[in-house]
Amino acid sequence: MQRIGSEVIADSYMLQDVVVIGGGPAGAATAICLAQRGVRVTIFDIRSRPTWKIGETLAPSAWPLLRALGVENRFMQEGHLRSYGSCSAWGEARIAEKDFIYHPDGCGWQLDRARFELLLLRAAGDAGARVRTERRDRDDTGRLRQ
Ligand SMILES: Cc1cc2nc3c(=O)[nH]c(=O)nc-3n(C[C@H](O)[C@H](O)[C@H](O)COP(=O)(O)OP(=O)(O)OC[C@H]3O[C@@H](n4cnc5c(N)ncnc54)[C@H](O)[C@@H]3O)c2cc1C
Repeated sequence: MQRIGSEVIADSYMLQDVVVIGGGPAGAATAICLAQRGVRVTIFDIRSRPTWKIGETLAPSAWPLLRALGVENRFMQEGHLRSYGSCSAWGEARIAEKDFIYHPDGCGWQLDRARFELLLLRAAGDAGARVRTERRDRDDTGRLRQ
């Protein structure tokens, strides 16, 4: 508990500028960007560490984003599989093939998704974000539930 003036603050995360609920790729990337700019940020995720999640293909167009987050070297050390193309069927039987050889950002990746999410969370922590295992919800007014 902390006290600021007459206001009792339940936990020090109340002193954060931004609270991110969910430590998936979106939440972690948001926290990295904010923390790198000096914003005090806490991420809450229900899970104590990333577990298996569906969605393992990282398209080449994600590469400039990883570079912008400053995690490209760590990513390369993780040993994810390179992917040179994809096949998909969206709402019809025909399978569309995409060859990444024509992509300006090079190949794509077949991720170990849990490892990828852990990498992003660690990068957020290294940038200064706090990462906490907790479920957080908003009330009807949109405020964070105590
Ligand atoms: C079947 C399927 C296949 C897919 N395949 C691909 C693919 O091949 N390539 C690709 O790029 N994308 C794929 N996607 C999409 C991709 O998985 C999502 O776009 C991505 O996970 C979104 O990231 P996110 O961080 O927004 O959400 P999520 O990854 O869902 O993360 C949300 C996080 O919030 C946490 N959370 C939720 N509620 C709370 C709460 N109240 N308090 C605290 N924590 C909370 C959860 O534990 C979770 O970790 C696929 C999706 C599906 C459904």
